[in-house]
Amino acid sequence: MQVRVKAMGILRQRLGKSDQVVELPEGGTLEQLLQQLQLPQGMIQVIMVNGERESDLHRRLQQNDEVTLLAPVAGGNGIATGPALTLKELQAIIRSLYGTKDAERGLQGCFLWFLEEVGELAAAIRLGQRKEIAVELADVLAWLATLANVAGVDLAEVFTRKYGPHCPGCGQRPCACPPQAKP
Ligand SMILES: [Zn+2]
Repeated sequence: MQVRVKAMGILRQRLGKSDQVVELPEGGTLEQLLQQLQLPQGMIQVIMVNGERESDLHRRLQQNDEVTLLAPVAGGNGIATGPALTLKELQAIIRSLYGTKDAERGLQGCFLWFLEEVGELAAAIRLGQRKEIAVELADVLAWLATLANVAGVDLAEVFTRKYGPHCPGCGQRPCACPPQAKP
């Protein structure tokens, strides 16, 4: 059977390509796939099968499954710099890092942290600190992903539904709403 493998960050460099089809024996597992790709498990932080995080290496794969491999962030050369990171992957990364804690904090608790990061972003912008602005933007995005996770929302889906085709206000692209309107 054939499975599609997508590799991000340093894994892409290691495999020499970001996207490939791998031939596996019928009923082959994730572990076998990694062995076949000669990737040590330590090089991989997050594995996703068909867009859902999978931590069980004994998971049996099926024909046409899509496996995404994300490298650890350590060293500053991993998933955080991957230009092709999707919102689904972003939410999966945050879930793998903080899912349990976030569930305990709940939506309201997480929202307060989100606001705190927005406040720090505001300060960085006010002071014109370019490096801090970048870091705070990452924090705001991380907490936004948290809120979506806790609320059970797929950001990519709602975003494309609302903003994908055209401006939700005037129905045009680019937006032709009057300047005083919100968008
Ligand atoms: Zn508009």
